[in-house]
Amino acid sequence: MTAETITCPTHGESQFAFVCKHLIAHPAQKWHCGYPEEDEPWRDAWCSACNEAFEREGEWNENNEGEADIGMLCGHCYEDGIAQSVTCMDDATGSAWVQFLQTQCEVQRVKQQAMVDNWRLNDYPRWDYYQETAQLVFSGGEQADLVADVEFVGTLSTASHTWMWSWANFSLLEPVRSRIAAVRGFGEEHDYPLLTVPKWKADAGDGWHMTAVALHVLGGLGVYRAPSDNGFIFMVVMSAQLRT
Ligand SMILES: [Zn+2]
Ligand SMILES: [Zn+2]
Repeated sequence: MTAETITCPTHGESQFAFVCKHLIAHPAQKWHCGYPEEDEPWRDAWCSACNEAFEREGEWNENNEGEADIGMLCGHCYEDGIAQSVTCMDDATGSAWVQFLQTQCEVQRVKQQAMVDNWRLNDYPRWDYYQETAQLVFSGGEQADLVADVEFVGTLSTASHTWMWSWANFSLLEPVRSRIAAVRGFGEEHDYPLLTVPKWKADAGDGWHMTAVALHVLGGLGVYRAPSDNGFIFMVVMSAQLRT
């Protein structure tokens, strides 16, 4: 991680990324950028117009870098800015998304009911999850303990009212976030920005919606929501078996 910082008028001394000035001025549009990495949470980003120059060369080099007017954006301002792009869909994509979400929420409801019934989840008084093994264990019931293989979808903060995808959350252990990038890939394929922007303003309903999408993309039996320090962790139950 670069040790260089800038002083943001809003956020003070901060790390920064290079971002085209079109995005800095008008963040509510598509951001062309890589995905967060542990040592580089904010990737350099540019708008669709600048992206045409980028794609012509396949990289930024001396032939095209003059065409992009690049500025430095503080990491916090970056997060706020890219979050404004989540609703940027053309009309056709927007209505396809609403329809898709509605369908998947209904599928989730049906699958969930079947999982709870088939595995008698309500008969277990206790549950615990283990990130090291990506397991959710139901115990304390009359029948054998139930061990579920889970993938964390994301976390909903009730403090900051934000959703954060687990593919962007490096505080989670690898075993619970090894499959979730497929949901981001699905978002890329269909141009659904809510699936590709790491963190955005959200309420509890959004957590269930994103989890319904993850259930669709990853497959799985159902979903689960567990309380966390400042909100909830949403997960997909990939499979389950009784402990013998
Ligand atoms: Zn631009
Ligand atoms: Zn800032």
